[in-house]
Amino acid sequence: MLIQKPKGTYDLLPEKAFQRTFIENKLRDIFSKYNYSEIRTPTFEKTALFKRGIGEETDIVSKEMYTFNEDEFTLKPEMTASVVRSYLENSLYNESPVQKLFYISNMFRRERPQAGRFREFSQFGAEVIGSSDYLIDVEMIMLGDHILKAFGINNSVVKINTIGTLDERQAYLIEFKNYLSKYLNDLSKDSRIRFDKNPLRILDTKDKGDIEILRDAPVLYSYLRDETKILFENVLTSLKSLNINYEVDYKLVRGLDYYTHTTFEFIAEGLGSQNTVIGGGRYDVLVEQLGGKPAPAIGFAAGTERLMMVLEANKYEYPEEEGIKLYIATIGEDSKFYAIKLLNKLRASGIKSETDFLNRSIKSQMREANKLNAEYVIVIGEEEMKNKSGKLKRMADGNEIEIADIESLSVHLLI
Ligand code: ATP
Ligand code: MG
Repeated sequence: MLIQKPKGTYDLLPEKAFQRTFIENKLRDIFSKYNYSEIRTPTFEKTALFKRGIGEETDIVSKEMYTFNEDEFTLKPEMTASVVRSYLENSLYNESPVQKLFYISNMFRRERPQAGRFREFSQFGAEVIGSSDYLIDVEMIMLGDHILKAFGINNSVVKINTIGTLDERQAYLIEFKNYLSKYLNDLSKDSRIRFDKNPLRILDTKDKGDIEILRDAPVLYSYLRDETKILFENVLTSLKSLNINYEVDYKLVRGLDYYTHTTFEFIAEGLGSQNTVIGGGRYDVLVEQLGGKPAPAIGFAAGTERLMMVLEANKYEYPEEEGIKLYIATIGEDSKFYAIKLLNKLRASGIKSETDFLNRSIKSQMREANKLNAEYVIVIGEEEMKNKSGKLKRMADGNEIEIADIESLSVHLLI
């Protein structure tokens, strides 16, 4: 029996892998324009990092992690904790007080595979550590918006909210839990569990009954201080003047204690129920929580597969892979070796070229050249090797060019 890939993983076959690389290159280009530098971290980290950095009560840590070596290590389920770990371990704050970093990397979560949800998936994202300026929040959302528009996604909307600071949330949470306690028996199982462990996250529910109950719940925004509200208003005013399509959603939360102030999610059409492409927010308390000197920070993470799904739905036109410039057809053993040497030269001068490795007949080699969409073909036999000359055939119209010196073939191909 053939062995198959693990559930929730996928292969990127050449055509899709080419598209993925195209996307990644384009992303790198955009990040670089915004002066973000790439950071790469290990595929696995100490389990304690994620427990402390993401929080024991989260879905990720409580049930989605791939942990091994007697629980010592875990495949990374997200990047923020790793980036902050690396920032602290390498004292990046000494290089520059504001670090603008981006990443593109595979993540691992043991969740139920479904459309747009895998167990190994790719995220790209950005983190800025060291500035609490609201304009960094604006830049980050601008960057997300820029990325989507660069891929022709013009109908996305960014949902945005502020969840204030830890202190501000305390008073709210008392009122919120007070309100919910009247409906405890009607809440979904997930929300009942969250009620004790992470009540803010209940606002995130997708359960219809819960949503009904939440309709009259107290609103976090009205518990925030004026200075927090002003920061938020500043962000919104900036987005408006930048023509970025946003929708304030007072129920949008990131459920962890270290999240503060701005939270946002880019929603795109064409994704069905898994419709969030980018999720992000401020996490002013995380650096300290991971043992560093306090530093405000903000970041976003985006699903690369989800971006590709939107592009598919939009019939995005990816560029074509560069075709073969020259196919060298050979007659006999000696000419095969001659061809390999010739290919060595041609490729060194940047010409995409190929020959036969199956001892095929000339007819079937020509068929192969056609299949590969080769622009030119040259046949190498006894004569050609002896005289170092030959005929370069242009496949589109059958025109033949006399080549007096095969050694300088590249000259004809580079024009
Ligand atoms: P969701 O509500 O969709 O589970 P999340 O809150 O778990 O999202 P984050 O941890 O914020 O997601 O990750 C950021 C982005 O990464 C998501 O918006 C999504 O695009 C992508 N993503 C998250 N989990 C997966 C997965 N299992 N497979 C593919 N993409 C994912
Ligand atoms: Mg999730």
